[in-house]
Amino acid sequence: VSRPRPLLALNWKLNKTPAEAAAWAADLAAALTPGAAELAVLAPAIDLPALAAGLPPGVAYGGQDVSRHGAGAYTGEISAAMLRNVGATYVIVGHSERREYHSETDAVVAAKARQAQAGGLTPIVCVGERLDVRERGEHVDFTLDQLRASTEGVGENLIVAYEPVWAIGTGRTATADDAEEMAAAIRGALEGLYTARDFRVLYGGSVKPDNIASLCARPNVDGALVGGASLKVTDVIGLNDAL
Ligand code: PEP
Repeated sequence: VSRPRPLLALNWKLNKTPAEAAAWAADLAAALTPGAAELAVLAPAIDLPALAAGLPPGVAYGGQDVSRHGAGAYTGEISAAMLRNVGATYVIVGHSERREYHSETDAVVAAKARQAQAGGLTPIVCVGERLDVRERGEHVDFTLDQLRASTEGVGENLIVAYEPVWAIGTGRTATADDAEEMAAAIRGALEGLYTARDFRVLYGGSVKPDNIASLCARPNVDGALVGGASLKVTDVIGLNDAL
């Protein structure tokens, strides 16, 4: 099986107005030399038209969340069709911050991933253990259980991001061995669930320009989901150049 092109997925979280998104896209267009990786900017939904207008060719974009419903009386929600309509191709589902602060269960995450696919988007399904689970040595079983429940009924057009909760936004990065161990386990589980064999499995958690190369060098880590280091174009150029 040939390795898929690595994906550098940039999660802005709750940052940047449409005007700031437009300026960021222009700066990126001026500075980016296309490299080995595919880039995808996961932005607040309201920023997506500004990104569509300003990103350099070949840079994808998408949302950070999607409704589990297609349409109707769900105030405040954004549907997969709405994201697709502005040119989004990806959406994050089940980020640990959504699981923690918005009480999203595995069943909700799976429903969102199904909606994403039905609307023509590739879901980036996030999984990963908390620190206490890792300290008990149960991280592989926990994460694979979470993966199976979060992909119930989900088709094979998906990306999985392994994001250990203890490494997100903390400056504490998993070792390349930790990332590879889990990415290999996730790939094995996906191969048991689906017929495709070219899944992209990402690592996320305090990825920076100076550690991305070693984290993504292993056979089973096909790129990174990056939060903090996605906000400044200079960091994104550093990440892209290092991959
Ligand atoms: C994330 O938001 O998915 C993430 C990994 O954040 P950070 O890179 O800041 O740890």
